[in-house]
Amino acid sequence: MKTPSTSLCVFMVGLLTLSCFAHDPPRAVQRAEPPGATYEGRAFHFYKIREDVFHAVGTGELDVICNSTIIINEHDVLIVDSHVTPAAAWALQKELKLITSKPIRYVVNTHYHYDHAHGNQTFGPAVEIIGHEFTRQAMMAGKSASGLAYDRMTCGIPARIDGLAKQLETTADVNQRLKIEKQLRIAENFKRAAASVDAKAPTTTFRKQLVLHRGSREIRLLFLGRGHTGGDVVVHLPRERLLITGDLLLAGPSYMGNAFVLEWADTLQRLKSLDFDTILPGHGMAFEDRHRIDHIQAYLRDLWPKVAALHAQGVPVNKAATTISMYEHAEHFGSSIPRHGIDVHAIQRIYELLDSGYKHKAAKLTP
Ligand SMILES: [Zn+2]
Repeated sequence: MKTPSTSLCVFMVGLLTLSCFAHDPPRAVQRAEPPGATYEGRAFHFYKIREDVFHAVGTGELDVICNSTIIINEHDVLIVDSHVTPAAAWALQKELKLITSKPIRYVVNTHYHYDHAHGNQTFGPAVEIIGHEFTRQAMMAGKSASGLAYDRMTCGIPARIDGLAKQLETTADVNQRLKIEKQLRIAENFKRAAASVDAKAPTTTFRKQLVLHRGSREIRLLFLGRGHTGGDVVVHLPRERLLITGDLLLAGPSYMGNAFVLEWADTLQRLKSLDFDTILPGHGMAFEDRHRIDHIQAYLRDLWPKVAALHAQGVPVNKAATTISMYEHAEHFGSSIPRHGIDVHAIQRIYELLDSGYKHKAAKLTP
């Protein structure tokens, strides 16, 4: 599965980096604090999952949105996902010094969505940013900074600020006011930080598999098929029996606005054949229960025909989004599954796929 071209590419990049180091060490990190990066205390909890492997989860002091994973190797560090803004990635790099003094050498983008890749620009030329070639193409085409999910996020920021400002006007309690004022500062920081994004695409890409050998550690970057997007990468540490899944696999159903819904369950089937004990998702806490994968596959396989039936009946997108019921899956996913309705973006995407004549994985579609 390992392609000679990608190995060669990484080898050459390694040579290039080493030769640069011999003369003028290239920067690994942006030195100046980017806009919106002021916060109190810590921005991240670093959960130690294995020796030298940490799951970085936001504390809420700064909007970081996705999780990242920190893999500390013999001589360097690999980070999986760069968070939502330069400010969030900068905070991660600052707090990383609490657990290691080794230099960051690689950042992996599990996929192109803004909340996983918009911190890329804070990493200097000494850091190789790795992703699927689909991820690079999508980011080069501006897809990480446009589309339904991005618009929802950017429209949500002023609405959140307005809502908090109104709450403040009607709140007299001093402690409550302090809490709202803090939330307002966090939201305003996020607005500034989001405005400073200049999306940077992966600089090293692959199609199927890329393996990094760093000291005694093997880091396998795998594309198992389309799912949450057209280029989801999972990071497998076989010796540590860990799997880092981005949004391809969360503890519950993931965002579907750019998904290849019919193929996703098959991709998860391939994922199940890997050896691992612990899953580090792109959102939420690490988990070990592999039955969750079965439940998500069942959800995806149930969703498609239900939406296809509504599409065939000519039910409009918004109506389908409020009337469809996936409630029978609530026993596995709890209150995240209402009696009626799902995210309108999921319906929109499935309608789009059906309208395009999408039937199988060979279908060609834009991200
Ligand atoms: Zn995503």
